[in-house]
Amino acid sequence: MSLIAVTEVRKRFGSNEVLKGIDLDVEPGEVVAVIGKSGSGKSTLLRCINGLETIDGGSIVVAGAQLLDDELHLKALRLKVGMIFQQFNLFPHLSAGRNVMLSQRVVKKADKAAAEAMARQQLERVGLGHKFDAYPDELSGGQQQRVAIARALAMEPIALLCDEITSALDPELVAEVLAVVRELAAEGMTLMMVTHEMAFAREVASRVVFMHEGRVHEIGPPAELFAAPRTPELRRFLGTTP
Ligand code: ADP
Ligand code: MG
Repeated sequence: MSLIAVTEVRKRFGSNEVLKGIDLDVEPGEVVAVIGKSGSGKSTLLRCINGLETIDGGSIVVAGAQLLDDELHLKALRLKVGMIFQQFNLFPHLSAGRNVMLSQRVVKKADKAAAEAMARQQLERVGLGHKFDAYPDELSGGQQQRVAIARALAMEPIALLCDEITSALDPELVAEVLAVVRELAAEGMTLMMVTHEMAFAREVASRVVFMHEGRVHEIGPPAELFAAPRTPELRRFLGTTP
């Protein structure tokens, strides 16, 4: 069974229909890269899967549980599916370790010792075991994003959604964040990632989704999609992306 089953999903903001019937199944352990022009609906799709947006039609089923348009269900979904954004959104007044502990304490109701042990373990996993007590402004952007990844992992998500997580980073810091993602993929984490890093998508993704004007315009293994785009829209898009 698919881990994430998106069927005929529609989403509109006012009169602007942003998702026009999206069908997409993600299997456990799959890495799906989502590419496409700005405004094509990539972030909205991820936000719908994570339960940050309600949908206007279709269905989203995550690990067998249907996403219903109901606050309780949306909350349950946000617990199951982790999401990482372009902006790291760390609390500046809390150390890296405290940042990773906070949502565990508040959302998972973990006790302090358990939350701290989990925070140490996940910071270790992203190569920042030695930065537990460092504050965000003492960390590079790449390190801050890795703390944000550790924070998501500490919630023990069944899948991780990444929305342009390297786009705010200086070029020399991109590789360390992608290395963490590569490692998670190798460990079998189910990942959906919106990315402009085509070389990385080609290397790590099992499938690539090209979104265009609110639809899945092309989908396939990266080798096929990048080597032989079938539509002029994808050809044009790849032509304009380094
Ligand atoms: P992408 O991530 O591919 O750049 P988005 O999903 O962010 O695209 O946006 C798709 C469209 O939906 C855009 O036209 C955007 O302006 C619109 N949109 C996204 N979020 C909102 C919102 N909260 N309210 C109104 N319009 C939105
Ligand atoms: Mg976006």
